[in-house]
Amino acid sequence: MLFGKYVNKFYTKYFWFFFFGVIALIVVDYFQLLIPEIFGNIIDSVDNGSIFNDKSILNTAITWIGAIAVIMFTGRFTWRYCIFGVGVRIEADMRDMMFSHSEKLSYSYYKKHKTGALMALYTNDLQTIRAFFGQGTIMLIDFIFLGAIALVKMFILNWALTLITLIPAVGIGVASLFLGQKMENKFAIRQKAYEDLSDFTQENFTGISVIKAFVKEEEEKSAFTQINKDNYNKNMAFLRYYMILNVAITLILNLIISFLFAGGVYLIKGTTLDFSIGDLTAFVSYFNSLTWPMMAIGQLINLRSQAKASLIRVSELLDEAPEIVDNEIVDSQIEGKIEFNHLSFKYNDADEDILKDITFTINKGQMVGILGKTGSGKSTLVDLLLRLYNVPNNSILLDDKDIMKLPYKKVRESIGYVPQDNFLFSDTVRNNIAFAFDGDVDDKEIIKSATLSDVHDNIVEFQHGYQTILGERGVTLSGGQKQRVSIARALLKNPPIMIFDDSVSAVDTKTEEKILSNLKSLRKGKTTIMVSHRISTVKDLDLIILLDEGKIVGIGNNESLLKDNKLYQEMVRLQTLEAEVNSND
Ligand code: ATP
Ligand code: MG
Repeated sequence: MLFGKYVNKFYTKYFWFFFFGVIALIVVDYFQLLIPEIFGNIIDSVDNGSIFNDKSILNTAITWIGAIAVIMFTGRFTWRYCIFGVGVRIEADMRDMMFSHSEKLSYSYYKKHKTGALMALYTNDLQTIRAFFGQGTIMLIDFIFLGAIALVKMFILNWALTLITLIPAVGIGVASLFLGQKMENKFAIRQKAYEDLSDFTQENFTGISVIKAFVKEEEEKSAFTQINKDNYNKNMAFLRYYMILNVAITLILNLIISFLFAGGVYLIKGTTLDFSIGDLTAFVSYFNSLTWPMMAIGQLINLRSQAKASLIRVSELLDEAPEIVDNEIVDSQIEGKIEFNHLSFKYNDADEDILKDITFTINKGQMVGILGKTGSGKSTLVDLLLRLYNVPNNSILLDDKDIMKLPYKKVRESIGYVPQDNFLFSDTVRNNIAFAFDGDVDDKEIIKSATLSDVHDNIVEFQHGYQTILGERGVTLSGGQKQRVSIARALLKNPPIMIFDDSVSAVDTKTEEKILSNLKSLRKGKTTIMVSHRISTVKDLDLIILLDEGKIVGIGNNESLLKDNKLYQEMVRLQTLEAEVNSND
């Protein structure tokens, strides 16, 4: 049996499946062990000649065997359905539980844990747990019942012979326990190696364009070979124990059978004991039936160590507490005023503050630019507004309320966000744009958003228009098209606050102007933040916040910053120069 806080409930939830499965298994075990007795009787009646005089002996035997076959067929079907079914059900339940927990985990969790490693939990580890609840239960029941019934029957036939054969069997049990411990460690190491392999493969396929562009196929291949070899070695280290256990058990069992024949013949010929050839056949047959339970205990120990190691790994995921939780909640509507109040922020594992003493206010309805060189902390700043990370109390206020006290889902629902990496799903263009909505969205609304973000004309040119599948299974969009579909997705939501993180960097200045002017009319009266490192994106906005190395080095509009901000003047000069060079090309 496997226990743990995440699996205990399954014993009650699936009680009836376990119950009927186990009963069917015991019935099958019981009837299966009647067969040696019947064979023993037939052999004895051949030996003493009675079978030739009395036809009913054979007829009864045949009838019994026929009946047992039917019972075993029905019983086997029932236990297979119930017990293997429980394994599959538990696997599905745990997968659901893991997925819904994974969805709750914070953004920072996914920055630390790689996708490949997570996938290994969902595949390899869950399969091991399923196998334990399926095969494992069968092994345990067979070990107990098949073993016990066979032993009792052997005991009745000849107790001394039974005791002698039991001594090595106990030895096998002890050895299995000892090896089981070792195997648990080896299995955990093996799963970790699989995790690395899965990680490497996943990352490699995701980054295939970089690998090809840098002609790194050969290097990647040898790196893969190394990781694959490591995986192989760790599998072999585990298998070695597994093999030793299996081979040792088979060897010992066969030795015992040879001994049984010798001992049995001695009993028949050399003593006056009542032990017939039929008894010997039945005895060896019973002992043969013991072979499986004895093997099963070895395999059960092995399977249990694997399942335990996997359950520990899965529990680690389920135990991971979401970093972002609602504390003391002040529920309210978010209108769009944003205030940063001496905010300093550093990432969990970093030593240095990424944002330092940030203070500014954005009033409802303002269109604000956050300008700064690459790495100056712009994305970090807007991520904090979405409460992807926790911040000190009262350092960010939305409508004068501490962001840490607002329900984080409410915060995120009130914000339309166009992330810098523009991730789109492998789904239709239409579904990607309508992502914020669960129910039906009017086609007109979708087309309107796509038109405002200047991507409608591109979409209608695709063979399937808005029904075109994007991504891995379909059309690959250009960087600029991706950006504009992402903008359309956020525009459709049309929330009180909109954040565009470098969202027009991949479009030309003409398209940029068009989108900006659309935004200006659409977002009238609502707060909009445009993050950019390009002056052209922010110069006409109500307010520009200039960031440099995590600090605010200027706040104002284009005019005031041009007048007295050195960094702004420098950026304008460089970018004008750049634009001139480009236009001369
Ligand atoms: P860009 O214009 O290139 O998008 P940015 O202004 O948006 O740059 P950020 O992404 O906010 O810059 O990064 C600011 C700093 O924070 C960088 O030095 C970066 O290395 C660091 N940083 C970003 N994300 C993390 C993270 N998850 N953990 C640790 N450091 C991070
Ligand atoms: Mg950024």
